[in-house]
Amino acid sequence: MNVVFIQFYTNSKELDRWAMGNGFSDTYDLCKSKGDFLWIETSRDSEDIIRLPFKTGTVYVSCFMGNQLVRVWKTALQNPGIKFVAGGSGLIGVEIIDTLPSNMSLSYDSVEKYFGYPDFSGKWKLSLPDVIQPGDKIYFSYEVDCYHCYWAASGAGKCSYCNRPSWKESRRRNTINLELDDCFQDYQKMIRIGSDALQPNTIHLLKQLPNLEPLSRYKSSIRFTKKSADEFKKVFTILGDTGEDGFILSGSFEFPTDRMWKIMNKGYKTDEVIKCLEILGGLDMVVTGGFMLGWNCLIEKDIDDLKRFFQRLPVFKRKLIIFVWPLYVFPGSSISGKYDIDHKIIKGPFYFGYVPKISFEQEVLNDKALKVIEEYSKDKNIEVHKEWIKSWKIFE
Ligand code: SF4
Repeated sequence: MNVVFIQFYTNSKELDRWAMGNGFSDTYDLCKSKGDFLWIETSRDSEDIIRLPFKTGTVYVSCFMGNQLVRVWKTALQNPGIKFVAGGSGLIGVEIIDTLPSNMSLSYDSVEKYFGYPDFSGKWKLSLPDVIQPGDKIYFSYEVDCYHCYWAASGAGKCSYCNRPSWKESRRRNTINLELDDCFQDYQKMIRIGSDALQPNTIHLLKQLPNLEPLSRYKSSIRFTKKSADEFKKVFTILGDTGEDGFILSGSFEFPTDRMWKIMNKGYKTDEVIKCLEILGGLDMVVTGGFMLGWNCLIEKDIDDLKRFFQRLPVFKRKLIIFVWPLYVFPGSSISGKYDIDHKIIKGPFYFGYVPKISFEQEVLNDKALKVIEEYSKDKNIEVHKEWIKSWKIFE
């Protein structure tokens, strides 16, 4: 009887490295005692059936993205002799609107909880697929807390825009056990210290990160608040030089004006975000910020306020990268009933949300906002990346 743990990995052009969806690395020993790992190479947005070399057994799948959940569903329909259990961040916030095949179930629990073990009771470990060779660049995650956000509406209540569940039920670490010290000496590593957005009281954990010079890079996320920036600055001072590419810290502006943040119930104020970015911009690291366009409620004042926001932005010591995303409405988020629907994204039994409809006048205002971003970015060490709009298939 086969018991197999599937993890997807991608040869990522965006990251210029192998992106590991290493969902079972926290539970490596536990899973190894129960079955085999099977790495499946995939493109970022594939929805294809997974070709399996067996017809019976049990398959646990770590779905990092929603499209991987779709792959499991299609594969379950084609393989009635195999029992599929899908888990991972790809399930979070997805609404189930139709019956799943009888041989497919979803798990929102940690793998340890699913098998009846205490969380983080094993040693973190990851083995790589054979195709990845020493010297290659790899990107993998080390989870601090999983799939839940401290800031979410159902938790701290500071950010009710997205549909992440409350951090209170989350599985989270109180320490980083330095398991990373001895891993993959011969590879160029980018390690995502995983959390949707670290809360100020957790940021200090990053002080425990080993210095993996010379070929490493860390990546993590915070909310753009002054308190978070102050905490991160303390960490950064202790970490020192984290390698040739250093640290990448991400957050999200969404649409940085007080009026728009109020509409989003984002809990941000311009003065505080600017203070935060002055602190982060003074550190020798890359900062990234998400920016959303496609709004149906912009007014001319937002464009003026956006200009003022960019005028006040500091010049970043290393650089700021702005990723421009299309506005997308997740099921169950606080804005889900507030927009006319352009089209819904439904794949099989899964509802992923909708792209809102916007009028011609709003398109013009959204275009103006994009021009502001581009114009003001030239003189401030800011790179604007719009290609994500085109590449993420779920927004089709
Ligand atoms: S938008 Fe980001 S910070 Fe806010 S609740 Fe969602 S994941 Fe957390």
